Amino acid sequence: MTSLFMKFLIATLPYAPNALEPVISRQTVELHYGVHYQTYVDKLNTLIAGTELEGESLEDIVRKAPEGPVFNNAGQVLNHQLYFTQFQPADAPETYPSDEMMSLIDRSFGSLENMKHEVSKAASALFGSGWVWVEADADGNIYVCQYRNADNPVRYGRIPLIAFDVWEHAYYLDWMNKRTAHVDALWGLINWDVIAERLG
Ligand code: MN
Repeated sequence: MTSLFMKFLIATLPYAPNALEPVISRQTVELHYGVHYQTYVDKLNTLIAGTELEGESLEDIVRKAPEGPVFNNAGQVLNHQLYFTQFQPADAPETYPSDEMMSLIDRSFGSLENMKHEVSKAASALFGSGWVWVEADADGNIYVCQYRNADNPVRYGRIPLIAFDVWEHAYYLDWMNKRTAHVDALWGLINWDVIAERLG
């Protein structure tokens, strides 16, 4: 039996649609958040209605679903939820990695700058559509990984920390083919207080 209560909802945008300019334009936010992300939410709700997955958490669906439409849409719902809630307005006071996050980054990469360089390389090298994630394992090791299409670190037992959407819909209106420059500019929008909460 289906119920409205069980449906997944789009995450509330924690800033105005133009707040990320000039890195991400209002037009891109309106299309990416309001159309692409919303469509993944709607499709997922339609696909799982009346199935045994109804009532499961989003993370559990992403972990367990076989390759196919349910996984693709659930993955993209989780990916975009984490992506859109990790930013702060471009003119907000800068936030910084927590002491714990910084020490884990130093242990895994030597420095924050080195980690950012690994993100640039991964974004540049990813062929086709996908994501680059900064993620943690249970031992506090930090990794930069590439994921194809809708894939997400929770599928591999990792904690997703920072999402870089390198599907063309995320940047093409604003940056055209300059994917790596776009990804590098996203660091200026990261709300490190949100990232510290994800690390737990
Ligand atoms: Mn996207």
